[in-house]
Amino acid sequence: MNRQKSFQNEQGAALYLVPTPIGNRNEISKRVLDTLNLVDVIACEDTRNSGQLLKTLDIHKPLIAHHEYNTQQSIPGILKLLDQGKKIAIISDAGYPLISDPGSGLVQAVIEQDIPVISLSGPNAALNALVASGLSTQHYLYYGFLDAKSTKRKKELFALKDFPYTMIFYEAPHRIEATLSDVLEVFGNRKIVLARELTKIHEEYIRGTVQEVLEICGELKGEMVVVIEGNTTSETQSLEEIVTKALELVQEGMKPKQAAGQACQNSAYSKNEVYQEMLKAKQ
Ligand code: SAM
Repeated sequence: MNRQKSFQNEQGAALYLVPTPIGNRNEISKRVLDTLNLVDVIACEDTRNSGQLLKTLDIHKPLIAHHEYNTQQSIPGILKLLDQGKKIAIISDAGYPLISDPGSGLVQAVIEQDIPVISLSGPNAALNALVASGLSTQHYLYYGFLDAKSTKRKKELFALKDFPYTMIFYEAPHRIEATLSDVLEVFGNRKIVLARELTKIHEEYIRGTVQEVLEICGELKGEMVVVIEGNTTSETQSLEEIVTKALELVQEGMKPKQAAGQACQNSAYSKNEVYQEMLKAKQ
């Protein structure tokens, strides 16, 4: 067990997880500015990119690179600085560090050293897209990027096919068409929202079905988040509706047990439950 009182020793070492804007530079909070001014060192994904942002904010601190290809060197270096009592902020190119961005190995290593890890509130593309999507926000899954290869991507989608809650994905514009084709094939034609260029001048939400969005997504540019409705079939289909569907299949020539099996797919009911109800309906 590890209990962290974040603000008990404000003089000591700490790792601050600092979100930066996903587009609109005004989304830098006072606390983010205060923290970046407070820390001794800023660890960032790309020192050139973050250097430019920090310059516009008039923040001049030593930067160290911490990205997915140098963690074996950067994590020990950062731990050494923390061990000397230094305060360190980690930022990524945009939004939250660790969210489809580097930082999780560092956070785990710092927690193991019993050094406070303190997160600040701020921008995140997934949450912006979710809350304006119009899809259910009660429960949701943040998935991040699907695999770039279609075979692996479809496997990932198959694993999510019955997931009943809203799902949020990140995708690159050059892959969006291929990804939505796979979504259509595996999930079927569900409700979907493509949120593009969030917080920027060309921000756009495209709300429709997978098929509708697929028809136009080839022309779309910029950064995008894809929000997809969960599988609502099992929740909304009653046993009565499933039995009706099975009986229709029988009328079309299918054997009763096979019809029960097909009709109960993606539902909360078993083939046998449906079959027993079909027998009752016939009496
Ligand atoms: N750490 C970031 C966050 O908290 O949102 C995500 C970084 S990830 C490497 C980059 C992906 O986030 C992009 O490919 C896109 O899917 C999404 N993204 C980032 N900024 C965005 C924006 N302004 N509008 C839409 N999507 C954005």
